[in-house]
Amino acid sequence: MSSGSHVYGYSAVLMGSPILLKLFDNNQALASQVFRLIKQYEDLLTVNRAQSEVMNINHAAGRAPVTVSAPVFELIRCALAASLVKDSCFNLTIGPLVKRWRIGFKGDSVPPAGEIATLLPRTRPEQVILDDEAGTVFLTQPDMEIDLGAIAKGFIADRVRDYLKLQGVEQALINLGGNVQTLGSPPGGWTVGLKKPFGEADALVGAITVENKSVVTSGVYERYFEQDGRRYHHILDPRTGYPLDNELDSVTIISTDSLDGDIWTTLIYGMGVEKGCALLRHQPGIEAIFVTKQREVIFSSASQFSFTLRDFDYRLVTGSTA
Ligand code: FAD
Ligand code: MG
Repeated sequence: MSSGSHVYGYSAVLMGSPILLKLFDNNQALASQVFRLIKQYEDLLTVNRAQSEVMNINHAAGRAPVTVSAPVFELIRCALAASLVKDSCFNLTIGPLVKRWRIGFKGDSVPPAGEIATLLPRTRPEQVILDDEAGTVFLTQPDMEIDLGAIAKGFIADRVRDYLKLQGVEQALINLGGNVQTLGSPPGGWTVGLKKPFGEADALVGAITVENKSVVTSGVYERYFEQDGRRYHHILDPRTGYPLDNELDSVTIISTDSLDGDIWTTLIYGMGVEKGCALLRHQPGIEAIFVTKQREVIFSSASQFSFTLRDFDYRLVTGSTA
């Protein structure tokens, strides 16, 4: 995932994910600053530890509104708006189900159907109350839990881009484990690999080339477990409480902001190819690449990126439904 001849790569593990920063300068101090920034946001947003601003909200569910910092409030506002879109599969209050399934964590298992039925009523985004003036978030029912796993990395990738810009950096790439944000236009653009679902770690379906754009992929092949011959992945259907089941192996969104990319991958994943393409016709600036279980690669449109197929077991179906 590089471009040009003098690219320096810096890596870390944060948010349970491999993080990769690419710069055109050998600047370890700047890389350390970037990792520190990511860590600061992780500390505010994580639900994988007892304490964070988001966990303060969760601990006070059913009891009291909680004051949070401006960036956390803004991110929750965006996540709530995406959750309240008609027929949305994005749900910021999916936390109780995520915690019960534990997909991608130790102790994952298929919950008994009765337990899922009990947890579903605790995942209603309508029961989140935001107070703009006070800057508070209130989960009105006990045992509700916000989970920003489907949106936080996009938000953080944008903050890294903004920080690098402020530091005078003209060309950089940050990969937060599936969320890529790029700055600038190196010769030939930035090339981002589109992973082959369930392939070897470095196997690619193709390569996406962009400049100054974000490339976010959500796939069923990153975090999953198998039980009784069935695969269970980490994108849950808020209507059923089970992993979303449709024709898709992955959805990639190309957009200016990674926040949009992260929201739309989950929204569009839930809709599938046909509905997703229909909706994106009214969203200039948000473009999708679908990879189906039938090994098709389908674009909603392709004005902000170019794509090169690398694995010829896959078939390019350019703009067929757009
Ligand atoms: P996306 O496809 O964008 O979203 C999937 C994730 O969103 C799921 O993992 C779940 O968290 C949530 N989700 C599931 N269904 C829905 C739905 N219908 N609507 C909305 N959200 C949904 N991983 C670790 O292993 N250890 C850690 O300590 C850890 N800490 C993290 C801290 C932070 C601040 C963040 C943002 C992530 C952390 N993660 C950690 C990773 C996290 O658990 C998710 O796996 C990751 O955010 C998924 O990103 P994605 O882009 O692959 O998934
Ligand atoms: Mg997402």
